[in-house]
Amino acid sequence: MADTPDKKPWLVRMHYRMRTVAFAMMFVASALHSTGKSYSPGLWLLLVLLFLVYPHLQYYRACRAPDPLNAEMHNLLTDSVLLGMAVAALGFPLWITFSAFLGTVSNNTANMNWRGAGKTLLAFPAGALAGCSVFGFNLSTETGWPATLFCIVGLTGYLVAMGNISYSRIRRLRLTREALMLREAELMDVNQALHRNFQEIDVLHNQLREQANRDALTGLFNRRYLDSTLDRELARCKRDGQPLTLIMIDIDHFKQVNDTYGHQAGDEILLRLGTLLAGMARAGDVACRYGGEEFLLLMPTMPLDAAVVRAGELRTTFGEMVVPFGEFRLKATLSIGVSAYPGHGVSAEELIRHADKALYRAKHGGRNRVEIWIPKAEASDAQ
Ligand code: GH3
Ligand code: MG
Ligand code: MG
Repeated sequence: MADTPDKKPWLVRMHYRMRTVAFAMMFVASALHSTGKSYSPGLWLLLVLLFLVYPHLQYYRACRAPDPLNAEMHNLLTDSVLLGMAVAALGFPLWITFSAFLGTVSNNTANMNWRGAGKTLLAFPAGALAGCSVFGFNLSTETGWPATLFCIVGLTGYLVAMGNISYSRIRRLRLTREALMLREAELMDVNQALHRNFQEIDVLHNQLREQANRDALTGLFNRRYLDSTLDRELARCKRDGQPLTLIMIDIDHFKQVNDTYGHQAGDEILLRLGTLLAGMARAGDVACRYGGEEFLLLMPTMPLDAAVVRAGELRTTFGEMVVPFGEFRLKATLSIGVSAYPGHGVSAEELIRHADKALYRAKHGGRNRVEIWIPKAEASDAQ
């Protein structure tokens, strides 16, 4: 048994125990039955081999088989054949025959369903026939009271043991099922928590993306976002045959505000201008802080003349605005440059450059004004 696999199936081990005990009891019953009879040495040899040696051989065989469970099913049928043979050799004593048959048929049914019962009904008589052919047909059904009593007690014990095994297996099955259900509930909780985490990550991811496109002080879009949007909006307007306008805005003498009232005062004005721009932007417009105190309003589908009117309104409104800062009432003005597709350029870079040049002209023209890009004017500026 040295190379017997360590892990023997539970069923094989259980059958080994049951078979060893049950067959030993069959030996005792046969011995009790032998009183007053003269068993031949051959019969004694058969009884010893079958009831005392055979169970160990069957266990050894099942453990060494490639499929121990399948081998054990064959063992059960061999049990039926050999028990049939033994009772035939004993002359079919009623209680011993009944106990042997009931034991093997109930065991085979418990392990192989109705098919097991059917197979036993073939195997047991087949064994009996074989026994008759070896030991001759001898019918002496009477069982003495010691053997009868032993058989009744043994059979009862056997059935109680079977019931107990069924109970413990059913109980273990129920506990396993409950543990599984508990695990399933835990898994569902973990799954839900994971789902919530994914949703939070999604929200955070969107927030992060939004933050990456926004200016921290004013909340307007930043230059990064403008760069990624302008080409796309321009392409869309070109495809739809629509105009597109850029309004470039710069606060006049902003450095003086900072120098006179402090950086925080400057921030307050930037914030107010941001709010004003966000308020006048239509859905689809992109109001962005272009850098420092420069802002840009991208207005897809907006014709130049309408954009100039909007720029004028912005300049006037901002110029009239008073920004309270502590004891001070701050005021500032805007210089604005406007360029538009298709008249002033066909690429994003060209339109920005021309809006910037128009803004530059507004500064040079005395500030607090709106200028449109004019090719001729830019040419004379350059001289
Ligand atoms: P101009 O009329 O020619 O535009 O004069 P300006 O003083 O506005 O122009 P300049 O470019 O010399 O100054 C811009 C100033 O804007 C300088 C810088 O300190 C200030 N500035 C840039 N970013 C911020 C900011 O986030 N907060 C504040 N308070 N000031 C800023
Ligand atoms: Mg500037
Ligand atoms: Mg300025």
